[in-house]
Order: sequence, then structure tokens, then C-alpha cells
Amino acid sequence: MNANPLALFWEGFTIESYAQIDAQSLLIRLQPADDYLPCCSGCNQHTLAIHDISTRRVRERDLFQYRVWLDVPVRRVRCTTCGPKLEQIRWLPGRQRLTAGMVSWIESLVRLMPIQHVATLLGLHWHTVKAIDHRRLKREVTEPDKRRIRRLIMDEFALFKGHRYATVAIDADTQQVLWVGEGRSRAAVRPFFEWLGPETCGQIEAVAMDMNTAMDLEVQHHCPQARVVYDLFHVVAKFGREVIDRVRVDQANQLRHDKPARKVVKRSRWLLLRNRGNLKDEQALKLEELLQANQPLMTVYVLKDQLKELWYAPSEADARQRWQDWLNLAMSSGLAPVQQFARRLKGYVDGIIASAVYRLNTSVLEGMNNKIKVIKRVAYGYRDNDYFFLKIKAAFPGKAR
Ligand SMILES: [Zn+2]
Repeated sequence: MNANPLALFWEGFTIESYAQIDAQSLLIRLQPADDYLPCCSGCNQHTLAIHDISTRRVRERDLFQYRVWLDVPVRRVRCTTCGPKLEQIRWLPGRQRLTAGMVSWIESLVRLMPIQHVATLLGLHWHTVKAIDHRRLKREVTEPDKRRIRRLIMDEFALFKGHRYATVAIDADTQQVLWVGEGRSRAAVRPFFEWLGPETCGQIEAVAMDMNTAMDLEVQHHCPQARVVYDLFHVVAKFGREVIDRVRVDQANQLRHDKPARKVVKRSRWLLLRNRGNLKDEQALKLEELLQANQPLMTVYVLKDQLKELWYAPSEADARQRWQDWLNLAMSSGLAPVQQFARRLKGYVDGIIASAVYRLNTSVLEGMNNKIKVIKRVAYGYRDNDYFFLKIKAAFPGKAR
């Protein structure tokens, strides 16, 4: 046991001297400890034969108000097996300029705040912090057990400013993000199925996705057993955009001469799109008043609720009946946006009805876009897709089956 407590931090070394180099920096010069035999980084053998010594200046964790630098006399040993080789220093692996303690501190901080904040706080370059986080993610993001994958969710999101897109593939049973790739075309998602491999592809039973993609063709091509299922989340969101929003704006325009009523309708978007179960009492009351006063809004609201019921049918036959009822209601509503939507939905009905058999939990998609936006903001400064996609995988590690 070394009498110097700091030897705990820098195994194999003791302090030779220290000095303040400026108002905020401390320099600690280390020297090899007498009682410690250096060890070859190639084969871990201890040796007395030293080839040469060079001093490396490295950053250690801050101490009180100081940034701490170490001057470390790093030896090259003359190993009988490996020849001249850098000595093995456990707290300073490889040719690093940051100690292992400093690296793990950066790793902790960058989980809590944006890269730029960590860089500023510690006086490091943005790239240094990012590279450390990137290595951590490569180490920590675990590969899924492909043999257990049966059901998938596939979705796309905008990369930056909506000019480019990326596709994400999720295990529907664990909600783990399995794969992220740039693009949303058939060719762009092909690498996912190649990564999955023919054996796993062959065992895929169902894949949930948005209606308007080319992905369904690629899924059928690789996964002959898979049934394509259109997910509730996307269809209802589309109904919100193309029907509820449209009817709401039309209704507001018709109330041009009744300013207070017009205002109520114009500002009702959130109330109409939100799940009723998530409304507070006074919001639910407001919604009720609005729907009572406006027949077309009442109609589209009821149609939205009934549309959702298609996904909860106990059987395919029941789902088909619900769809027929819904279609009749929509076509007799007298509202053009509703009729237009219903006509387009007809082409996708098989994929909606399939949800009666394949109950895929796609709730992960609802929060995903927001989470991705946050990741983009804190981590996407230099548009490194590999890093960005790893961040997304790390944010959705999945739960136990
Ligand atoms: Zn060796």
C-alpha cells in the first residue's frame, strides 16, 4: 500500500511536483513509482527493460476550481515477446490525451446535457466530447437477439429541415429500435432486411407501417410470411390533418360574421385532436359545448372515434363489419373531406383489418418524433448519421419480452 493517497488514482506513479500554470489550471508532474514494475501493453508481461520514456500531457478530472493537467512519463518497454511496446497504464489506455476518469466523467455529463454545454464547461472541443459519446454508444448499444423477432414496426422521420428522410425499424414486442437508415425508398430499407438475414425475415409474421410508403413492397419481397398492418397512429393522425383540420377551417370561415364563435372554432384544434381521456374536466366541457354547437365538427369527431374502433375489433369479420359501417357513415356525412378520405382508405382496408389478428403496439411511435427532435438538437451538430442513429437506438433500448 502506497502511503500517498493520490497513488490510488494514478496506479504505477507518484507525484513529483505540482504547479499552478494559470488562474484556472493546475499541472501535476508524475514520476514512476519505485515499487511498480511496468507492464507490456501487448502481452501484459511485467518487465524491467525500458526502451525509452516520453512525457505525455493529459487532462485529468477537475479539482476544486482548477482544470488539472498531468505530465506523465510514459515508458516504452523492451518486451522479450513484442519488442519495443508502450507500457500498459490502466487509467490512461492507448495513446489517449484524457485519463479514463476524465472520459467517464464526460460520458456522464453528456447523458445530461448537450455536447456543446459539456465542451464549454470543461474547455474541450465539441469533436472531442462527441467522439467520446460516440465510443460509449458503440460500447453500450446492444444488438438484439434476432432469433426472437416476430413482429416489426417501420416508420420514417425527417432528417434535417425535411429535405431528407430516415427509416426506423422497431421490434413491436419489445419496442427496441433495431435499425435506422437514411432514406425511405425501397432501396433505402433493403439493408435492414439484409442485416436481419433470410432466417429472421422468414419468421416475421407482421409489419406495421404508415399507409403511404413503398415499404410494403419491400417487406413482402423479403418476408413472404409477413402481413402488412397499417397502424392506428398514422391513420388517425392523417384523419386529423386531412379531415378535422379542413372541416374546422371551413367552419371557422362560415362564422365570419360571428367573431366570438369563429374564435372558438379556430382555436379548437388541440381539443379536437387530443384523446378525450387526456382532457381535464373543463377542457372536456369546452369540447362538449363546441360539438353541440357545430354539427359538422360533431360528425368528424364521432367519425374519428369510430375509426379508432377498427383497430380493436375482436376478429377480422368484425373488423370488416365495422369498416363497412364506418364507410357508410362517412359517405353519408355530406362532408367532402370525409368522403375523400374514406374513398382513399378503401384501398388500404386489408391492412387495417389485419390489425384484428395482429395486435401490434405502435404507441412507441407517438413519442418517438419528439424524442428524435430533442436528440437532433443536442447531438446532430455535424450531421454524423452513424452517431445520430446510435443515439436513437440508445434512446429506445426496448423492454423485456
Ligand atoms: Zn509484450
